[in-house]
Formats: sequence, C-alpha cells, structure tokens
Amino acid sequence: MSSSPIASKEVLRISPKRVLLKVSGEALMGRLTYGIDIITVERIAKDIQQVVNKGFEVCVVIGGGNIFRGLSGASQGMDRAGADYMGMLATVMNALALQNALEKIGSQSRVLSAIDMPGICEPYIRRRAMRHLEKGRIVIFAAGTGNPFFTTDTAAVLRAIETGCDILLKGTQIDGIYDDDPKKNPNAKHYDHVDYATVIQKELRVMDLTAITLSSDNNLPVIVFDILQEGGFASVLDGHGKFTIVTKVTH
Ligand code: UDP
Repeated sequence: MSSSPIASKEVLRISPKRVLLKVSGEALMGRLTYGIDIITVERIAKDIQQVVNKGFEVCVVIGGGNIFRGLSGASQGMDRAGADYMGMLATVMNALALQNALEKIGSQSRVLSAIDMPGICEPYIRRRAMRHLEKGRIVIFAAGTGNPFFTTDTAAVLRAIETGCDILLKGTQIDGIYDDDPKKNPNAKHYDHVDYATVIQKELRVMDLTAITLSSDNNLPVIVFDILQEGGFASVLDGHGKFTIVTKVTH
C-alpha cells in the first residue's frame, strides 16, 4: 500500500479515539448483485474488531442500498415516504447480519435502531449508545435517522456528532475522492485532502449535500476509503494507504 503523506499527517493531528464507520449496503453485496454476501460481512466484522483491538471505540452506521432504496421505489410509483421506510428496514437487516458476524468472532456489539423494534434490537437512545461505547462494545446504528427523505450518510454524520466521534470513516468501493469517475476516466485526479467547500462547490459526490453540510457545520472530519480492501479500516487510522480526508481547511 502506498502512503498518503498529507492525509497521514492530518489523521495523526486528529488522533481519533472514538470513530464512526459508515458502511454502504452495496459494500455488503461482495460479488453478488443483490442482498448480503455473508463472507464479505464476516470480513468487514474482522476489520472492525481489528480497530477495536487497537483501542478505538467504534460505532457503525449501515446502509440498505443492497436491498432497497426509497428513491427506486418512488421511481416505480410508490409513495416516497413509505418506500423510504422500507429502505430503513433494509438497514436493520444489514445491521443484524453484521452483529451476527461480530458475535461469531467473539466481539461484543449492540444494534440500536432509530425505529423501535423491541423484539430484535434496542431503541436508539444517545446516552445508552455512549455507555455501550465506553464499555468497549461496538454500536451498530440501524434504521438511519428514522425519518424518510434522509440517507444513511446523513444518519452517519448525525450519530457521529451526537455520540462525540472524532472522525467519520466512509467505507466505499473506491479508494477516496476523485475529480472525475476513475472507472471511466483513467486521468481522474485523486484528492489526498480536500475541504468541505470544494466538495460542495465541485459537487464531488462523496456524500449527499445534507450530510456534507452537517459535517462542515460541526467540523467533523470525514475520511473516504476502500472498505473492500482487507484491513483497510485499521490502515487508514494508522495513516497508511490511499484515501481522502475532508476537513475545513487544507494546507
Ligand atoms: N433511509 C431513510 N432515512 C434515513 C436513512 C435511510 O429514509 O435516515 C432510507 C432511504 O430510502 C434509503 C434507504 O433507507 O434509500 C437505504 O439507505 P441508503 O440509500 O443511505 O443506503 P446506502 O446507499 O448507504 O446503502
């Protein structure tokens, strides 16, 4: 793995203790075209435990795009709010899959849902989430924000701020932010470090506008990295590998 000096320096400056990992639903598909690839989920669980072993407190927000997205339901004529609730339910299924994989390797985790489902997981209560984290448990936030018309990226930023996370790591299928789609344009430029304003102005599709604005307003650093790279989560926190860090001002 090549090192990314600017970003490494920035990560060291932040010296995070409590981190939030955002995993998109699509990342859980592995080589499948739909649903949950258990082998991929187990690999991500090991990566999360590796970070816990390093002494970090870890929370996770999980997406649902591998199962259902409200927008696609709406584009087929469904009522948007109802379709979004289906999307939120999809995130709960993914959260339970991740919890199962974590349990298999002996990790302590709790699923906290923004929509009450007392039969299968705890409700989201901020203080309870903080206590779990202090006790070294991995906290998985499910059901997004609990409101339609939002995304799990926005839920990730919201939960990170609420629970006092030092940094948000967005695990995607690409190793950071580029000025163009690197899959279509081999000359696309990779950003090691970029500020929120540039992300917004150039419409660099890191997260939706609500999520990036909320990060900017609350000065929450965001790292975008490749979650499909085994051990990538821990490497990024060590400042190694290729990734992009988004903060207020770049030097
Ligand atoms: N969703 C929602 N409110 C939220 C979070 C998610 O309505 O606060 C719904 C929305 O329909 C979204 C779906 O849940 O399409 C899955 O979330 P997302 O698209 O963010 O998942 P990802 O792209 O990360 O897999």
